[in-house]
Amino acid sequence: MAKIVIIGGGVAGLSAGIHARKNGHQVMIFERQKTAGGNLTGWKRKGYTIDNCIHWLTGTNPRTEHYRIWQDLGAFEDDEVYYPNSLYTCEAQGQRLSLYADLERLEREMLAVSPDDQKEIFAFTKGVRAVQAYMGIGGKQYDQKASLLTMLAQFPCLVKYYGMSTQDLAKRFSHPLLQKFMLCMLGRKFTSLAFLVAVATFCGKNGGIPQGGSPEMAKKIAKRFKSLGGELLLGKEAVKIHTLKNQAIEVELSDGTRETADYFVCACDTKITFDRLLGRKPPRALRAQYADPNMPLFSAYHAAFACDISDVNFRGDFMFPLPWQYQKLLKTPYLILREFSHEPSFAPAGKTVLQTLTFCNEKTAREWIALRENKTAYRQKKRELAEALSTAICEKFPQMRGKLQCLDVWTPATYHRYTGSEAGAFMSFLLPKNKLPVPLPTAIPGLQNVLLATQWQQAPGGLPTAATLGKQAADLIEKKERARAFISSLLPSAKRKPRPV
Ligand SMILES: Cc1cc2nc3c(=O)[nH]c(=O)nc-3n(C[C@H](O)[C@H](O)[C@H](O)COP(=O)(O)OP(=O)(O)OC[C@H]3O[C@@H](n4cnc5c(N)ncnc54)[C@H](O)[C@@H]3O)c2cc1C
Repeated sequence: MAKIVIIGGGVAGLSAGIHARKNGHQVMIFERQKTAGGNLTGWKRKGYTIDNCIHWLTGTNPRTEHYRIWQDLGAFEDDEVYYPNSLYTCEAQGQRLSLYADLERLEREMLAVSPDDQKEIFAFTKGVRAVQAYMGIGGKQYDQKASLLTMLAQFPCLVKYYGMSTQDLAKRFSHPLLQKFMLCMLGRKFTSLAFLVAVATFCGKNGGIPQGGSPEMAKKIAKRFKSLGGELLLGKEAVKIHTLKNQAIEVELSDGTRETADYFVCACDTKITFDRLLGRKPPRALRAQYADPNMPLFSAYHAAFACDISDVNFRGDFMFPLPWQYQKLLKTPYLILREFSHEPSFAPAGKTVLQTLTFCNEKTAREWIALRENKTAYRQKKRELAEALSTAICEKFPQMRGKLQCLDVWTPATYHRYTGSEAGAFMSFLLPKNKLPVPLPTAIPGLQNVLLATQWQQAPGGLPTAATLGKQAADLIEKKERARAFISSLLPSAKRKPRPV
């Protein structure tokens, strides 16, 4: 049995911990916050629940590969998943279009919006089906990956979308609503293949929302870790990993205590791992990503409102154009407004909670982080934001006038403070067109017993990526331990060094 210390109790860290415990190792997770889950979190304000994370969770379809990930982590029960009819609704020039879970319906509605775009609409839905078949992420084929021959046949279609940005994709449609529909989820700069993957997942009934949302799912995964005998140490921040030659020896915590281990898994932001904990340069591939202007980090700011109306006239996320006077302050032409009618426990009876989400680029994110140095100015800016958002929402929905009360505003500075992430980013580097997402290895060159388990190793994939990379770290440790045991078995018994238990 090896002793493993994991730094970071987000989904990646918890996943590494659960799999390492299943492999029979002693595991300690150090998490700097008072709760586990990292970005998978939510909190209470004035009797309302605010949900920070899950809009859709890839892997809720029991017939897909990703589903296994969540079952291993005890993330949800099958009968606890909510499948919305639509993921978001987009409005342009007074017309609306929803991303329906039913792909045929989506196709019909797109055709109804713009018959002139028929050729491109068919190409788009064909592309979505190709992704479903190729990647086995849902849809009629569920997890039945296509045969090699079919894969080869789908390949040119995927390459076409991979080589196109979401902006390029939008431009192929003539109707403004279809153009906006292609842009409102990922913005303009992502490869359009990423958008197709999201649509393919959701339309494959593989992107539901576990009951209780993000905070409940985080609690369940942490509970699974503890029930397997893992030690979850909250409010414990790692400040340094001490090394000797090519081995890490112990981790030092902010309270001055130290913990030795056979393996150290860094399940936190890579800037924290390399700049602070290890005090060494990140691997070349990671440095190249930080330096690549085409793969920037991104973040978001949000506000949550208590709403005295229980049923608003949209479902899920609603994206609508903002009047110009709000665009400058909010730095976006569009607002994403989310409702939670599927979670009656999130608000007192007869009321609901509404949240806004505004993506921002790295520059704006860093401005927020710098602004927080001056607490008064930061608070003032948040107040201005809440007021502008509330007014903009009420202009769109006059029935909400006098019925909204701001519960909270959180910004890139909040993410930076909470998870310690660089520029307040909560997903990996933006993936532009024509860029091969080269995954960063779990092993760290030059250090034998320090491993990475973090979403920053791959293209943005959210929670499933974090969980998969956590498992990958646990698997690598298992492999190393087996190799060690094998080599040890070849030695004469006097020379064998059993691990202290
Ligand atoms: C607004 C928003 C919406 C999202 N929507 C979705 C969605 O719909 N679907 C989806 O799949 N994903 C979504 N995501 C992305 C998802 O939340 C992340 O991809 C995922 O949570 C990343 O997990 P992680 O464990 O890699 O990192 P993190 O969640 O960042 O966890 C890292 C942990 O390490 C801890 N830590 C850092 N430094 C130290 C230290 N020195 N010592 C101890 N602990 C430390 C941090 O406190 C944190 O708990 C969303 C995220 C946000 C913010």
